[in-house]
Amino acid sequence: GAPTSTSLAELFESALVIFDKRLKRAGIVVNKDWDPAAPRVTCRAGEIRQVFANLVGNAIDAMPLGGRLDLSVQKYKDGVQVVAADTGQGISEADQARILEPFFTTKGASGTGLGLSISAEILQRHGGTMQFTSSTRQGASGTQFVLYLPATPPGE
Ligand code: ADP
Ligand code: MG
Repeated sequence: GAPTSTSLAELFESALVIFDKRLKRAGIVVNKDWDPAAPRVTCRAGEIRQVFANLVGNAIDAMPLGGRLDLSVQKYKDGVQVVAADTGQGISEADQARILEPFFTTKGASGTGLGLSISAEILQRHGGTMQFTSSTRQGASGTQFVLYLPATPPGE
């Protein structure tokens, strides 16, 4: 659809709903930190929901034995920062260099390898950014994605 002024916390909630059962079944605890002062973002909501859904899906895939998924939406500079941090197995340094490539997947036939490359493109089209950090260190592994989207300009 056309771009609309959107609450990213509400949009993230709507992306989470479809994962309710999988999160419970995997024993993943979700912590949400939605900053009420975060401004709205003018975006194609369906596209940004797809970005959020891929982040959650990837986090679930990384935590088959359970774990924690910390989600936050915060006001940041002239926009909104969205963070999704999991306690999964992490991404090796060799793989970190490749995860944004179209069709790169470590999931065999069950992965498309398109989620992150499409997400990066969607964010770029919205004037936003996507970064990540990851660790595979035993007992302290996990992956954090940090997204930024510019706020709806005042008066719009
Ligand atoms: P797919 O999920 O179909 O494999 P993506 O583009 O979404 O494609 O992700 C590409 C690859 O990045 C995954 O196969 C996985 O190796 C890695 N990856 C992405 N997110 C995570 C995460 N949260 N934890 C561990 N690995 C991840
Ligand atoms: Mg994916």
